[in-house]
Amino acid sequence: MIIVDCLAVGDGKKLLTRDVIGAGPRTVKGILENVGFKAKIIPYEDLALSKIKKEDIIFISAMTSDFKAVKTLVQKIKLKTDSKIIIGGPIANDLYLLEKIEGDITIVGEAEITLRELIRKDFNPEKVKGTTYWDDELKINSLREILKDLSLITPSYEIEDYKNYKSARVYVEVVRGCSNFKRALLLCKNKKCSLCKEGTLKCPLNINPGCGFCSVPSVFGYARSRDEEKILEEIVELLRRGVKRIVLSAPDFLDYKREKQFSPYGEVNYEAIDSLLKNCKDLAEKYNSNIMIENVKANLFNEKVAKIISKYLNTTLYIGCETGDKRHSELIGRPSYPEDVLRAVKIAKKFNLKAQVYFIYGLPGENKETAKNTVEFMHKIKPYIDKITVYRFRPLPMSSFYNFKPNLTKYSYLIKKTANKINLEIKKRYVGKVIEVIVAEEHLKNKEDAVGYLLDSGLMVVVKKGKKYIGQKKKVKIIKAHSKYLEGVVV
Ligand code: SF4
Repeated sequence: MIIVDCLAVGDGKKLLTRDVIGAGPRTVKGILENVGFKAKIIPYEDLALSKIKKEDIIFISAMTSDFKAVKTLVQKIKLKTDSKIIIGGPIANDLYLLEKIEGDITIVGEAEITLRELIRKDFNPEKVKGTTYWDDELKINSLREILKDLSLITPSYEIEDYKNYKSARVYVEVVRGCSNFKRALLLCKNKKCSLCKEGTLKCPLNINPGCGFCSVPSVFGYARSRDEEKILEEIVELLRRGVKRIVLSAPDFLDYKREKQFSPYGEVNYEAIDSLLKNCKDLAEKYNSNIMIENVKANLFNEKVAKIISKYLNTTLYIGCETGDKRHSELIGRPSYPEDVLRAVKIAKKFNLKAQVYFIYGLPGENKETAKNTVEFMHKIKPYIDKITVYRFRPLPMSSFYNFKPNLTKYSYLIKKTANKINLEIKKRYVGKVIEVIVAEEHLKNKEDAVGYLLDSGLMVVVKKGKKYIGQKKKVKIIKAHSKYLEGVVV
């Protein structure tokens, strides 16, 4: 069986996050191996169509934004062979995907039970929950309940399927789902109800849970955590194979083993986080590697947890803000407000943790006033952060804003422009400094140069004449800053 990793390839050329190896394809491979199949992951760029045999079953793992590349790929495969094509990952949250792409089956949401059931039924999807398929017409089976037994997450450890595994950020799943079961109040017409103020599983108006732009709570449910023992077992296996950078993957790392699974408020589980990160630090030292966390909710982040994280990890924190306007935050269902983000980035700075903050432009509810407040807020957090990441709003299937179009005005572009300007200013702080970089791959245009990444984040560094150092950690002196990357020379 072949699993084609199309994650983040967009329309076919993966330009951003080239150093990321997501957890999904290894999860699928693990399930297949678990029931006795031989499977191989092939990154999209490495797939040679001539090698596909007609008896192969082809799995495609992709995000919604990879639609174009997946459509073309499936067309090409179908021209060559009648292999069965099964599509999964966030792209399959669109229940009508098979009307647009010629695949045979989609797996909607979590694969652990659905795929095992499909295998038991020799890939006949009839009545298999969580699938869609063609049988003269498009059949959409009912969705599957969320996975409660997380011991069924059995990822394959064979990371060597990816040729860049020694320099890439390899994602290890820690938490599945998200605790933000508030609702986007922009959609709520019930002025008397306040059920979702702190998070609720049931909304009388059936508004999808979570931030309006996000599909995680609808697709993956409330936050559940894998056991520490299983997480550490996976990390050890990856490090033993030569992985140098691991990300503890979670929609919000601070949801790890929290008591409140569907409310974003309340306490973090400090003991569980301390224990996991302490063991991670020991492993990182033993294998001369780096282990990082990623997303944290600003409202759950405080000095106590910052102290624990900074004691054990050399990591960047990724904090969602999305809008700098408090009322707009409420309308889109955010668990935290701009004031929480400001407090969080100040704490991060105090504990020497780098912070990157996310914003979205073109969101439903955005207007001149909210955009102005967002721009002002970006300037306010500038002294405490390492980067701003801005995304254009995309209506995601299964999110509550699925039926909205991007609301793009000159004010939206002001948000984008401000982010780029601030990023350039921040990057200039690096000029003249010597930093440790993992040199990952040849530069796509200048063949003598290489592209590398900072060890504690995904910040990109173009290493001049760096080709000969690919796969190594090097001290690099930064000579120039660009808004999206740094430029440097090995010292
Ligand atoms: S639970 Fe639903 S109806 Fe009640 S306030 Fe929240 S969004 Fe409105």
